[in-house]
Amino acid sequence: MADAERFTGHEHDHAHCVADALSAADIVCSQRGTRLTELRRQVLTLIWESHAPIGAYELIDKLSRAREADGEGGRVAPPTVYRALDFLIEQGLVHRIESRNAFVGCAQPEHPHRGYFLICEGCGTAHELEGGALDANLKARARDLDFDIRRITIEVAGRCPGCRKPGGRAASTTHSHAGDHA
Ligand SMILES: [Zn+2]
Ligand SMILES: [Zn+2]
Ligand SMILES: [Zn+2]
Repeated sequence: MADAERFTGHEHDHAHCVADALSAADIVCSQRGTRLTELRRQVLTLIWESHAPIGAYELIDKLSRAREADGEGGRVAPPTVYRALDFLIEQGLVHRIESRNAFVGCAQPEHPHRGYFLICEGCGTAHELEGGALDANLKARARDLDFDIRRITIEVAGRCPGCRKPGGRAASTTHSHAGDHA
């Protein structure tokens, strides 16, 4: 939780993020009596390759390539991946980023919540904000206006500290990876 004060950095021990996310997923699933099947775990791991949201098609590609590398040839059927995504979203292990139609892992799946995100237009990193105060504020304003909330999506676009640094990634809206490719 100490990291919550800082924007998800370009240089950090990401293996640690992945290990934490996977062990949180195991705990959450066993507590709820749901099953993190091999495929679900594989999809979750691919989503956690970076903090930049990944689209469904890219996931299908990566999963197909990973399977090929494991000697299990054949492209993964899209519905298979969508079902795994549905499960991961339902369990709060993954959030959908609506503005990008993409998915990002949640580091706090123990307590179901909405995701509020600051999304960097440079590196694609989506930093999840703790939504408590925002939630309360929005709900109070809506209540004052007698407005029945159905869905709240808060996705804020901008530039992260790493991308604003001289020598950091140049401004761009084209790439969406946080450095997982060479
Ligand atoms: Zn990380
Ligand atoms: Zn979350
Ligand atoms: Zn950035």
